Amino acid sequence: MCAGAEEPGGAPVWHVMAKNTVTTLCGRRLGRRVDGANAQRAGHCSSCMALFGKLMTAPPAVGSPARTDH
Ligand SMILES: [Zn+2]
Repeated sequence: MCAGAEEPGGAPVWHVMAKNTVTTLCGRRLGRRVDGANAQRAGHCSSCMALFGKLMTAPPAVGSPARTDH
């Protein structure tokens, strides 16, 4: 999770960020970091939450270790 401004100059919100990318799940590039006090008051980015929920409920990839064909 990474706190960032939802809109330039707007209220900070928590975005979901993958480890291997510089953009948030909702496609935002965070331009500035939010300090601790502001981050604690921040809500969650609804776009990120929706996308994150989809990822969590997605079926496991084909070829996962649990699958045995032989
Ligand atoms: Zn977001």
